[in-house]
Amino acid sequence: MDFGFKLSPSSAVNLDTVDTRRFDRLARLVPDALTCIGCGSCSATCTAAPWSGMSVRKVLLGLQRGRDEEVDRMLSACMLCGKCTMVCPRGINTRQLILTLCRLDKNGEVVR
Ligand code: SF4
Ligand code: SF4
Repeated sequence: MDFGFKLSPSSAVNLDTVDTRRFDRLARLVPDALTCIGCGSCSATCTAAPWSGMSVRKVLLGLQRGRDEEVDRMLSACMLCGKCTMVCPRGINTRQLILTLCRLDKNGEVVR
């Protein structure tokens, strides 16, 4: 029967099964990753955001939700300009955070 609408696929995340090794390693190397309050200032100022959707906030959330492909796609668009670092109200060195993250593989091992 056609009701004129359809339900969107569920975006529920089972946090009990998500592999967070990459985020856990990042948090050990850059403890400031745990202090993000998700304000979105980094996203609003990101140079690469308009065409790539890059957002440090989304990167951190994606890592904790097992969305590695989305995270890697955003990271590949970052130009390391540092604007996000300048506006972060928590004083997180987001540029350093991104650089560190780019050195970790999906298992959280340092590969470069
Ligand atoms: S600006 Fe800082 S505190 Fe706000 S979402 Fe970005 S990283 Fe988190
Ligand atoms: S360093 Fe990367 S994430 Fe930060 S504002 Fe520049 S392009 Fe965006």
